[in-house]
Amino acid sequence: MIIGLPKEIKNNENRVALTPAGVSELVANGHTVYVQSTAGEGSGFSDEEYQSTGAKILATIEEVYAIGEMIVKVKEPIESEYKLVKENQLLFTYFHFASYKPLTEAMVASKAVCLAYETVEKNGGLPLLVPMSEVAGRMAIQKGANYLEKPLGGRGILLGGVAGVNPAKVLILGGGVVGTEAAKMAAGLGADVTIMDVSLPRLRYLSDVLPANVKTVMSNRYNIRELAKHADLIVGAVLIPGAKAPFLITRDMLKDLKKGCVLVDVAVDQGGCIETCKPTTHENPTYVIDNVVHYCVANMPGAVPYTSTLALTNATLPYVIQLANNGWKDACRADAGLKKGLNVVNGQIVYKSVADTFGMAH
Ligand code: NAD
Repeated sequence: MIIGLPKEIKNNENRVALTPAGVSELVANGHTVYVQSTAGEGSGFSDEEYQSTGAKILATIEEVYAIGEMIVKVKEPIESEYKLVKENQLLFTYFHFASYKPLTEAMVASKAVCLAYETVEKNGGLPLLVPMSEVAGRMAIQKGANYLEKPLGGRGILLGGVAGVNPAKVLILGGGVVGTEAAKMAAGLGADVTIMDVSLPRLRYLSDVLPANVKTVMSNRYNIRELAKHADLIVGAVLIPGAKAPFLITRDMLKDLKKGCVLVDVAVDQGGCIETCKPTTHENPTYVIDNVVHYCVANMPGAVPYTSTLALTNATLPYVIQLANNGWKDACRADAGLKKGLNVVNGQIVYKSVADTFGMAH
């Protein structure tokens, strides 16, 4: 199959959908990979590295879309790319169709085949969303530790303390992928960590696998209010699939928090679980309300494109190979989880919740 790898052109997107190692696997499987010049630059991969693994370099995005039977990307196509997408072309990338109607209409009109990373399933989970949650969870503690420093508006407390001085108290709301990774990082730095979830089986699991400086506590209104008062850093990491996150830290609770406490709301992309959270950017990541520092960057993994690219492609490459070797029809027939990734096929929306969102037929 002929595979096209365009450079991401969405604002501040430095990830790339295939690494030179991925290209090398595809070439070894008999496929031809066309890479747009400088596509890997933001993640630290040069054109020469891609060439050395057998890729052919093309100068423009138009050439890549024109030649590719399958286009592998990271983010959804933006307006300037819509006209480049061709009938029957397979696009494998994050789409998040439900959040943007013009994209959905454009892909329907293109009659292309759109397989969305975010709806591919495996063992009841979403394997192509997990890597970015892992990155964001780990980053949440790095960022929190940083903003706890006095010159950045925080309490001026070191997460791990030192001999003879208490460590900081870290409260993590939600014990899924983000929360677990955050807990591991905070624990590793020596903080006094509490992780909360509404699922008792999940709390039992966390209690088994996390180190002794992580306590597990049932998430409910009363417990959150009590623990939040003593926290130095609070990480929001809840998810209710398909719904807006519930507000677990409400506006009125801020006055009871410690002065200089830092809130990192990773769940901001689902509306946030901290009522005073509003999306921020890497350029301007924080703001202060009632002496509490808020960090609410909606695309945290974008700041570490090297790690994010490798983490994402570790998860996507096996699917890219299946699709290239067998074509999308046979690959989806053989793997019901991959089939769940089909959102738009030849002018038809085939993913129910996307069709329902826009009142369109499916
Ligand atoms: P997940 O499904 O693995 O975990 C969510 C956890 O929240 C589950 O264990 C669930 O039981 C728990 N939960 C639900 N309601 C709760 C409540 N009231 N109190 C405590 N726990 C509760 O999800 P995840 O992969 O960890 O993702 C968490 C959030 O982070 C999502 O909104 C995701 O979109 C977001 N995210 C943001 C970024 C970013 O850059 N900001 C990056 C990756 C993920």
